[in-house]
Amino acid sequence: MSSQSFQPRSKLTAALRGFAGQCPCCGRGALLHRYLKPVERCSHCGEAYGHLRADDAPPWMTIFIVGHIVVPLLLSVEQSYQPPLWLHFALWPTLALALTLLLLPRCKGVILGMLWATGAREAGT
Ligand SMILES: [Zn+2]
Repeated sequence: MSSQSFQPRSKLTAALRGFAGQCPCCGRGALLHRYLKPVERCSHCGEAYGHLRADDAPPWMTIFIVGHIVVPLLLSVEQSYQPPLWLHFALWPTLALALTLLLLPRCKGVILGMLWATGAREAGT
């Protein structure tokens, strides 16, 4: 057990700040740099994030959200308009890729914010 005391933190605030790419602690510094890499420490408040490991949770969350957006849209458009097959091949992969690239860093921010808010530590410590 660690001798450091853990102060309760708002999970909702941490998740929302992480979604916005901001430091879950102060909301001013950046949480990620180079698209998906967490900063070692917040440039504003100095809170450490380099030890947090989100692992597969952000891709899982991104696939879950993108799938629940793209598949119903695809089925709805097909049932309503029956567009040509080439349009399906052009539209849906492009939309899925764009949503994935947009949501992946935001999902990673949410996961890192939740890890920080719950006091998660690096494995083995
Ligand atoms: Zn900060």
